[in-house]
Amino acid sequence: MDAEWIREIDPGEILVIDRNGLASQWLSEKAERKACIFEFIYFSRPDSRIFGEKVDKARRKLGKTLSLENPVAADRIISVPDSSNTAALGYAQESGIKFEIGLIRNHYIGRTFIHPVPSMRDFSVRIKFNPVQGVLKNKRVIIVDDSIVRGTTLKLLARMVRQAGASEIHVRISSPPIRFPCYYGMDFPTKEELIANTMTVDETKKFLEVDSLTYLSLEGLLASVPQERGGYCTACFSGDYPIIPDQKIVKLQLENGIVS
Ligand code: SF4
Repeated sequence: MDAEWIREIDPGEILVIDRNGLASQWLSEKAERKACIFEFIYFSRPDSRIFGEKVDKARRKLGKTLSLENPVAADRIISVPDSSNTAALGYAQESGIKFEIGLIRNHYIGRTFIHPVPSMRDFSVRIKFNPVQGVLKNKRVIIVDDSIVRGTTLKLLARMVRQAGASEIHVRISSPPIRFPCYYGMDFPTKEELIANTMTVDETKKFLEVDSLTYLSLEGLLASVPQERGGYCTACFSGDYPIIPDQKIVKLQLENGIVS
């Protein structure tokens, strides 16, 4: 676009752009700033810059910290493309284990976890990803993924990797378990549908039918992202909500099955 990056818009700020230039208006005197830490984990593209940091750099650091916290002997590291590519590269860099493209993503299929009907989600996963047998056969494979929401997509992918001949599958998640709903606009499913809310890590490992499963710790996550002037929101991991959600909005979300 040839656009010039100037600064981020602050919480509560309305930026008016007209022929006279830029002017700020404020919804309130002072709004506390809490940055969504999930931007570094999943939402933002690696070529973005957010909260004063390059997303690629922060996401690699997540992978490196994950490797330091959760090492495992393996022959290959693969990512769940495209959102986990950068964290997987960080894990590979730190561990010295070779990164390979083990799953090919069909770019004509949309995101799967927002499909409301399970059968549609399963079908779209099957047509969205294809395993690369030559990379996986008789290999101990680490699958790096950015997060687990319901776990259904990852279960199907792990099965695909196993069917392609992997001798062991170790899943490493570059964020902590998601246990709480997001009241600030993120389209997570209800609390009951969040796998980390209903199963222990060991039960999730069994559900995924993999040899091991570990997550990045909350401490490791916070140590991997840059200092933020107002701090971060980590509510979906910690339950520590920076703003108590407006009860009217929660009621509406409950009535519409957005949160539970
Ligand atoms: S709960 Fe907070 S950290 Fe989690 S997605 Fe929502 S805004 Fe982001």
